[in-house]
Amino acid sequence: MTDTAPSADNEFGRWLFSQSCSFVIGAVKLDDLPQGEMVEIAFAGRSNVGKSSLINALTGRKSLARTSNTPGRTQQLNFFNLDDRLMLADLPGYGYARAPKTQVEEWTALIGDYLKGRPNLRRACVLIDSRHGIKDTDREVMTMLDTTAVSYQAVLTKCDKIKPTALSTLVDNVTAELASHVAAHPDIIITSSVKGDGVADLRAALAALAVPAGEQ
Ligand code: GDP
Repeated sequence: MTDTAPSADNEFGRWLFSQSCSFVIGAVKLDDLPQGEMVEIAFAGRSNVGKSSLINALTGRKSLARTSNTPGRTQQLNFFNLDDRLMLADLPGYGYARAPKTQVEEWTALIGDYLKGRPNLRRACVLIDSRHGIKDTDREVMTMLDTTAVSYQAVLTKCDKIKPTALSTLVDNVTAELASHVAAHPDIIITSSVKGDGVADLRAALAALAVPAGEQ
């Protein structure tokens, strides 16, 4: 859960996420989704959870994923190709209180269709703000992932914002809740994009799902 001793996955993760990563498309409808066989990882989370910051920290780029000043505005799935080994899908943020109902319905329909029709989607990272814990809108997404049988992993963001004791209680609570979700991976990754905590762990976890070095 914290940065661990160097392992093959850590090494490969560090290498992989330093390779070229390019924007592929901002998809607003199913027809726009990129085709291909590449292993895909999706990033989901409430608006303002720190999703863009985490994708930028993972890839070591300042502005690959654009940090959103207007929560809830972007309704597109942004795809990034990491060295032809891993497709990163940045899903539009959800849970913005002032989002109109039609936008919420559009989000749910688009993401539902995406999750159902993506055989190469190997893992979704569900980002949870350490200060807020799991919210009802996260639960709805987790249930969608359970229903569509997409394996997912809870990733706590902004861990620098809370005290270690509060973080440890949060981890216990999230662990307990994940146990009742069939598609949830039991390991929680604790991150801070500002401090860099957990970024190597997340790289290693995702690299373990990618096409290994030397094979393509
Ligand atoms: P998004 O809407 O989920 O893409 O969230 P952003 O990446 O745009 O981040 C939302 C806000 O949280 C911004 O002001 C970021 O600077 C801040 N933020 C993101 N990650 C962290 C973090 O790890 N620690 C702290 N302290 N702030 C963060």
